[in-house]
Amino acid sequence: MFYPSALSIAGSDCGGGAGIQADLKTFQELDIYGMSVITAVTAQNTQEVKEVFPLPLQTVEAQLQAIGEDFTPASTKTGMLYSAEIIQLVASAIKCYAWPQIVIDPVMISKSGAVLLQPSAMDTMLDILLPLACLITPNIPEAELISGIEIVDVPSLYEAGQRICSMGVPHVLLKGGHREDSVESTDYLITRDTYLALSSPRIHTRHTHGTGCTLSAAITSGLAKGNSIEKAVSLGKKFIMNAIAYPIEVDSRHLYGPVNH
Ligand code: PLP
Repeated sequence: MFYPSALSIAGSDCGGGAGIQADLKTFQELDIYGMSVITAVTAQNTQEVKEVFPLPLQTVEAQLQAIGEDFTPASTKTGMLYSAEIIQLVASAIKCYAWPQIVIDPVMISKSGAVLLQPSAMDTMLDILLPLACLITPNIPEAELISGIEIVDVPSLYEAGQRICSMGVPHVLLKGGHREDSVESTDYLITRDTYLALSSPRIHTRHTHGTGCTLSAAITSGLAKGNSIEKAVSLGKKFIMNAIAYPIEVDSRHLYGPVNH
């Protein structure tokens, strides 16, 4: 049986809730053959990221090469990339192997406050990785950092999304989940001259660990299956809302429970 394939280039979460583990579980659940290039190993659980160990550049490069020499993933997502040097390797591989349909989840800081992207690496991400992508999926704090615009309402959110588009990416999915004032959780799919609001009822829960990773992996799965960006985003949003609404119980103290299984 033929399976569409997708690649995740991201960090490992040994607790299984975010990062590579969340991505591979999501790919599997959506009938995608999943592959991974690990950029960093984190020691974490549902309570905190305890330590971050970026992998040697040679180790990241060898994984990218091994994938590139054999596979052509139908779509690829990037998650935790940690440093400018790793971003450079990833951008080179995407160009060298002409990997299509790149989704960037611009992971910067975990919910528990750990640095997952060195602040000095953001410019490299924007300069060399962003123009290779078809979609970037920032949350509000990430979009504010990338665009330099403070998001206080929908017009400023739209302006921030458009500013990010002007940096060279055709679609921005700006995730509104951090706007706690709202009774709905609305994400905005923004292009240079349009925006589409995707609303769903806000669910109050602690089970949010790995939501960003899981959503971008679900969108990447939709793209791998040949859907348009609009359709893949709307399917991804349905997938994550379902995961948040029906959280799994695992035997952990799960301060922030994982959303995926
Ligand atoms: N750890 C890794 C390796 C991640 O890639 C991410 C998010 O992308 C996180 C942790 C953060 O997860 P959360 O902030 O959802 O708890």
